[in-house]
Order: sequence, then C-alpha cells, then structure tokens
Amino acid sequence: MQPMGNERPGPPNFPGRPASSPFGAAPQTTMPSPQTTMPFLSSGPVVGSDAFGYRAAAAPPVRFNGPSMSSPPASYPSSNLGAYQRFPSPNYLSTAQSPGPLRGPAYTGQPGLPPPTLPSMGQQPVLAPTVAARPFQIPPVPMGPPTQNVNPTPPRGNIPPSAESSFPALRPVLQSSLHGYPSRQPIPVAHVPPPQASPFHPQQGFVPPPPGGTPVSLNSREHVPYTSAGPPLGALQGLVEEFSSLTVGSVPGSIDAGIDSQALPRPLDGDVEPSSFVEMYPLNCHPRYLRLTTSAIPNSQSLLSRWHLPLGVVVHPLAEPPEGEEVPIVNFGPAGIIRCRRCRTYVNPYVTFTDGGRKWRCNICALLNDVPGDYFSLLDASGRRCDADQRPELTKGSVEFVAPTEYMVRPPMPPLYFFLIDVSSSAVRSGMLEIVAKTIKSCLDELPGFPRTQIGFITFDSTLHFYNMKSSLTQPQMMVVSDLDDIFVPLPDDLLVNLSESRSVVDTFLDSLPSMFQDNVNIESAFGPALKAAFMVMSRLGGKLLIFQTTLPSLGIGRLKLRGDDLRVYGTDKEHMLRLPEEPFYKQMAADLTKCQIGVNLYVFSDKYSDIASLGTLAKYTGGQVYYYPSFQGDVHKEKLRHDLARDLTRETAWEAVMRIRCGKGVRFTTYHGHFMLRSTDLLALPAVDSDKAFALQLSLEETLLTTQTVYFQVALLYTSSSGERRIRVHTAAAPVVADLGEMYRQADTGAIVSVLSRLAIEKTLSHKLEDARHTVQLRIVKALREYRNLYAVQHRLSGRMIYPESLKFLPLYGLALCKSIPIRGGYADAQLDERCAAGFNMMVLPVKRLLKLLYPSLMRLDEYLVRAPVADADDFRNFLKRLPLTAGSLDPKGLYIYDDGFRFIIWFGKMLSLDITANLLGVDSSGYPELSKFILPELDNGVSRKLMGILKRLRESDPSSYQLCHLVRQAEQPREGLLLFANLIEDQIGGAGGYIDWIQQIHRQVQQSA
Ligand SMILES: [Zn+2]
Repeated sequence: MQPMGNERPGPPNFPGRPASSPFGAAPQTTMPSPQTTMPFLSSGPVVGSDAFGYRAAAAPPVRFNGPSMSSPPASYPSSNLGAYQRFPSPNYLSTAQSPGPLRGPAYTGQPGLPPPTLPSMGQQPVLAPTVAARPFQIPPVPMGPPTQNVNPTPPRGNIPPSAESSFPALRPVLQSSLHGYPSRQPIPVAHVPPPQASPFHPQQGFVPPPPGGTPVSLNSREHVPYTSAGPPLGALQGLVEEFSSLTVGSVPGSIDAGIDSQALPRPLDGDVEPSSFVEMYPLNCHPRYLRLTTSAIPNSQSLLSRWHLPLGVVVHPLAEPPEGEEVPIVNFGPAGIIRCRRCRTYVNPYVTFTDGGRKWRCNICALLNDVPGDYFSLLDASGRRCDADQRPELTKGSVEFVAPTEYMVRPPMPPLYFFLIDVSSSAVRSGMLEIVAKTIKSCLDELPGFPRTQIGFITFDSTLHFYNMKSSLTQPQMMVVSDLDDIFVPLPDDLLVNLSESRSVVDTFLDSLPSMFQDNVNIESAFGPALKAAFMVMSRLGGKLLIFQTTLPSLGIGRLKLRGDDLRVYGTDKEHMLRLPEEPFYKQMAADLTKCQIGVNLYVFSDKYSDIASLGTLAKYTGGQVYYYPSFQGDVHKEKLRHDLARDLTRETAWEAVMRIRCGKGVRFTTYHGHFMLRSTDLLALPAVDSDKAFALQLSLEETLLTTQTVYFQVALLYTSSSGERRIRVHTAAAPVVADLGEMYRQADTGAIVSVLSRLAIEKTLSHKLEDARHTVQLRIVKALREYRNLYAVQHRLSGRMIYPESLKFLPLYGLALCKSIPIRGGYADAQLDERCAAGFNMMVLPVKRLLKLLYPSLMRLDEYLVRAPVADADDFRNFLKRLPLTAGSLDPKGLYIYDDGFRFIIWFGKMLSLDITANLLGVDSSGYPELSKFILPELDNGVSRKLMGILKRLRESDPSSYQLCHLVRQAEQPREGLLLFANLIEDQIGGAGGYIDWIQQIHRQVQQSA
C-alpha cells in the first residue's frame, strides 16, 4: 500500500505532541538517523504508479498550481527535543528572520530599513525586544497598552546560529500562481484543448446590446409545447425532439406589448438535485457529493466545442448525507485497502471480478489486478461476488475507509483550535470581544476530539499578548511582547494546551477576557506580527486558526494601506487591482500555513475599509472561510456571530486533509476553483475542511475521440477525523459517453453549471473589469442557446420563439442573478469594495444548493398564514407559503413578507398591513416608530408571534450552515428598504441593470443574430 498524501514525515514519539516538524519535509532531509525515519511509511509493493496515485504526494513539492516549489522547510531539528518540547525557539527566530524575496523590506528585518512603527499611544520608545511575564490578574488590572512591560528578553544564547537557517527562505515561485483565482490551471496547460482553455475570456466581436429594446411578449400558454420524455440516452433521435420554448414577439393588437412575466421560468422550488444521474447508474454516489454540469460526456473535441457551457463537476466531499442515510465505514484491517495497482483507484461498485474471483478489473484504467487472499470471494453465476451484499464498498457510491498506518506520516493530529483576537478599542466597543469570548466558552464542551483537543489564544492591539495556560496554574498568565520587528514567542511550551487538562484555566481566561480590555483605548493593529506569532505556536501540530479582526492592520509586517475604493479606476484596466491582495505577505503566510496544516477562518467586523481582498487570501489558500460583519454592533448582530462561530467550532471537520479526483482515461481535470492550495497538478491541500465547503473543477478531453462507453469519477478525501482516525472518504460516479449534442443538453444540470460559472466569473473579476465578467456570463448563455437552437430551428418554425432544453430553463435567470450578485454587479456605487470581496470569497466555497438560494432567494407572503391558518405541526407552513417571483410586483402593501437568501431574513411590513399583526409581532404599536432598523423581533405570547417564530426556526434548521439574522423593514422606509430588499429583487430593473424581461429580450436577440 502506498501512503496517500504522506505529505509529512513525522517523528515516532508522538503521543499528542510530535517533536519534529509537521512540515512536508522530504524524509531524508528531515531525519538524520535511520531509526527516526518514517516509521509509518510502508515500502509497500506498489511502485511506478506515481503518475496517477497518491504516491505522487509522497515527497510533496507544494505548489499553487504553478511552478513547483522547492521542498518545504526541511530542517526542524528533532533529535535533541523531548516529546513535549514543542517550541524550540530557534525555529521561531529563524522564521521571523528568514529573508525571502516575497517579503517586503520590513519582513526581513534587515538593517537600513525604517524602524518598525511602535505603539503610537503616547508610549515612549520600547526597548526591543521586551517581554513581561506576570501573574494573570483578573479584572482590576488594565491590560491595555502595555507600556509597563519592562523585563528584558531572556538572552537568546541558547540558540544555535545554524538554526537561523532552519526555516528556509520562502519561494518566489509561488508568486505567479498566487495572483488571485485565475491562475489556478495546473500545469501543463499546453494540453488544454482550445475550447476549454479559454472558455471564459471576453470574445472579440461580442457587442453588448443597447439597453432597453423592443417590446416582447412572453406567453405562458406557449410554454413547453413540444416536450415529451425522451429516452435517456437519446437512442431515438429524430422521432420526438425535446425542448421548451417561450414566445418572444409582440402580441398583435397589444399596445403595451402584453408582457406576461408570469410565463417566465422561475426556480420556485429551489435547487432540484438531478435524478438522471442516479437513475442511469444506481450505484453512483448521491448527487449532493458530486454533480456533473452534464451527465452526458461528449465523445469528441468537436462535440465538446459545441457545448459552450462549462464541462466539469462540483464536489462537496463532506456534505451531510441524505436523510436516513449515512456513509458506511469500511475497515479492511490487516488486508489493507484494495486499490488499483496502477492508477490507485479505490475498489468501488464499478470494478468487475473475473477469473473465478481471483482478479479484478479497474474501472478507471482497465488494469487487471490480483485479488488479495484476504479479500477473495467466489463469484456467482452472473460473475458477481457472492459476498457483494455484505460489502458496502462494492454496492455503495460513497464509503469511508479506515486508513492503516501506511496512510500516516505521523500519528493523526488532535483537533486544534487557536484564536487570534483583536482587542483594540473598536473590538471592545463593538461588543465583538465579549460575544466571541462567551461563545467560545459556551462551545468548549462541544469542540470535537475530546479528550485530545488542543486550544490556545493570542490577543493583540499595538502589542501581542500571549497566555500561559499550563494546567498547573490556577489562572492564566499574560505575557506582552511589544517588539513587532523581531517576533518571538515567549514560553512556547504552554501557549497551546490540552483543553481537558487546562479547562479551568481556559474558562477563567475566557471569563476575564472582556473585562481585561474594557477600557482599552488602543486603536492600532499589529495584525501581521500577531499572525506570525500564531503561526509559530501552531506550526508543529497544525489546526484551525480563527482570526477576529476589527480594523485595518496598521503596525509591523503585513500592515496595509488605506487604499480603499476608488471611483476613478472603475472601467479602466486597473479596476481589478482593487480586488487583489496588496501585500505579498498574506499570500506567503497562506502558503506557510497550508504547509503546516493550518486552516484559517477569518472574521472581519469593521465598519471601515479593512482590505478584505488582502486578508481573505489567508482563508482562500488554506481551505478556509471569510465571515464579514460590516458595521458590527453587538446588540444587533450578536445572534448571528454567536451562531456562525458556534457552527464553525462544532461542525464536522476533516483535519490535515488532501483531496484528489480521479477520472477515466481520455478525460482530465484541468482547472480547480474554490479554497485550497494545489500541492501537485491534481492534489488539493486542505489543512482543515468542513461540511460546508464545495469545490468546482473543469474537465477537458485528452483525446480527440473517446472510445469508451462510460467515464468514471472518483473523489478521495484523505483526512484525520476529529476522533483521531485516519480516514479516506471516497465517492464514485459514472456517466455515459455520448455522441449527440442534444443529449448533452438534455442531461445538463443547471445547478452545477451555475456553480462553475459563478466561480469563473468571480475569478474573472480578479483580472478584468466587472463588466467583462458579466459579459462572459451572458455570452456563454447566448452561445449555448444558439447552438441548441441550431439543432432544431431547421425542423420547426421557430422564428418568434426562444427555445431551450428543459434542463436549462432556469439558466438565463440564474445568469442574470449572477450578474446582479454582489461580487460582480454594477460598479463603484453598487457595492462597497470589502463587501464585494467578502461576498466573492463566500460564493467560491458554497455548495450548489446554497449558492442557488443566494442567487435566487425565496420571497414568501406570511400574513395570511399567520392570521388564518390553524396552528398545526410546525412544518405545515410549507404547504401554505408559496415562493414568489423576486420582483416588487409581488409585494402587496397589505402584506407581510419574508425574504430568505440563506444568510439573512428580511421581513417586509407593508404600509397597510393590519395593525393587529404588527402589534402582535412587535409588542408595541409600531406606528409611532419611524423605522424598524433597531427592532429585534421579540418572542411574544400570542399565536401570530409564535407562528412566525416557528417559521423562522424551521427555516434556520433547514440550513444550519449560516445563521439568518432577521432584519425588519417597513415599506417606503428609505434608504433601508432599497438597500436591503429592492437591490436584491433581481427580476426588476435595478440601477442601470435591466430586469428579467429585458434580459430575456437581449439574450433572444443575440441568439438570433447569427443563428
Ligand atoms: Zn486503475
């Protein structure tokens, strides 16, 4: 057995705390002596399969899909360290001092550079470096600007000079591939066929149509006149064609064009998972784990070139299983996991057994493999293994294998949560600090991994504050470091502790944290130095780093300029620079963090510009997530932060993970989109990935003509579970190869297509204007519909109709919604820059269902249900409430409505809504209140209130990934009504952007232009 993702050689003496580097160092360079090398690496029988197998990751050149990086840091000395001596200071010092081409001058600490900016709160110059260790004192001692810390640094004489170089310089080769999303194509890109290589580039000759246009008529009675259910594989071409259509043309005799917007297709049932996927291949994994943009793979380049939409998949490896199901766990025990000897595919329902059960054929590469003796079973008359029904790996599309020690390069790491918390004045004033401290404390019992879970904290303003949490202390001990120029970690052994052992110290700390800084007036942010310090503390074990930041980093390395938004660059070729990280520091830190198995989740709270474009890079390349709370006010937004953070701390998390997706011969994944770092051309490094993250990939054909009937896909996520087991979650699926374009369109999955298109469009905004991103979305829809039209236009008289496959009926609307989504809509005035960037980071990781809901949220009328419907079981509201078109025309002034995009609720009170309902919901006569912005919906003791609360609860439970805070708005309460609701009614004209009908007109006109 070959280790999969044995990216980090580990020391033998783990028990929870490895003594040597968790980095992906090449074993031979890390371990000087034979007895310390790689106890868990097998020298298994399989060799020569590297090109396809996980073995490729064995000595991992880490890269971001660009040129290969040189070997990861290779020389954390381990021989002289005890098992618990986790923080040999040489490493930290060398880290802080290691020169690197990517780092700015301040980073290198070289002479001749401006001195670091020291605390600016009227402090006198501080001798550097200084550290004060003192007993932790609860409330009375203000722990704000620590001018008082005076103890000189312990001499660093114990550091061998050679250690200075033990953290190698960082690699400049990262840079080119780290420039935002667009460069995610793995090498060698030369193999990418033209249609796939540049499908999303602006097309020459495309002229956007003028705004407005001729009147059209859209008549619902004309909808779907030709539909019939065709055979799934298009075997009966030509008998009955299958398409849907809309009449697009003026109605004779009508003055106002008689537009019947009711006729337009709308996804009022939300995302519908494609059924053909499992109908055709019942052994496939559930589509929530893997969705193809079309479940009919083209058999040739020429066919693919006529598809025009992305060909790819969306994978959601840790999705929650469908109700009533779970992913079976398979333990092969000493026999080891059965994998193809050549391509390393895992045994799955599509492998076939022959030779009386002694051989099995790989469904991906067709190699005939031997069946190990321990795995042998006789075959029945049909050639099926007699024990197949007892073997989930042979009958289920999703299984989880327990990985033997060959899959480990060190013992499985414990779950580790490290918190880096801004305690500057705004963090305190906004209420953030108190809510975060309380929420963390309330989740301590639920953190996964008891009793191995590790925890630690650093807080910062203009200085860094470390906390000794050793279990023998009765209360934590705070140490302040104010030298930002040469960061080191005091008392490294006790900053990261076992939660169950140090529980009372951690509790005391979290109880005291808000009051410790309650009078802090420090407004500076030494974020970069604090980040480096956190990295130093965590680097041995890896884990999850949660960052809470309320201001623009202002001191030390990684400080950011208030570059802000700039109206003047919109529409120019510099526009996209606003959305790119400014400081290479953050990309480089992300690379270092990933190598050490640290995933970053970033919580940003500022009401001013915080440069999320730069900060978000940390989450982007470490498999993490960006949470953004603009204008955060604790009393208003408390519940959302509390729930989001609790979810983050308690959801299923896979640690030190890598993911690879294999596919059959002739097809190849060429681009990857989401939050991760590419470790090799096809291995995604995911330091900490959870059940809320999805990834998109694009496929290309390697050969001109595919000769196989079926293409197989297999997703394999190797990870450490919170319980400390090494596991491999495997999802397998098959799709037919077709020679017919109509079949490709019939088998299209709009949800998967929109997911890929969204990621591509957001990536495009990092290298192009927003307008260009929108045009490419529109252009691809036009080209696809034009191609589709050409299939049928000859046979049928279709001049006044827009035709499309039933499978893509919502594609134009989702395309419009995407163009109006925050990351790519409008221009300067249409979204604040931070908001735009945060929304882009968010959309890059969303699973299909949640993305579609965000793009086309639900709008439902509530008042009739609240008043009339009997109180029945809590779920009955779903039978009463209907989703409405997202247009102001759906809003009746007598009504009460809820808008739900999965991230927030907006409750709209019509001007003429019954005062009874208002009083029952708000508990007061709201007529005296000019606006509802400060109102928090109370739970009141009456039927109307209870019913509404029940609905909100149910809606939240149906998607716990994000907490929907309730925003109340009254009709005509401007500008809130416009900002909250009208800006998101995407079927209407908003600002300069046309509505749904305009959009359909435009698309139809363009489809016909050269049809
Ligand atoms: Zn194979």
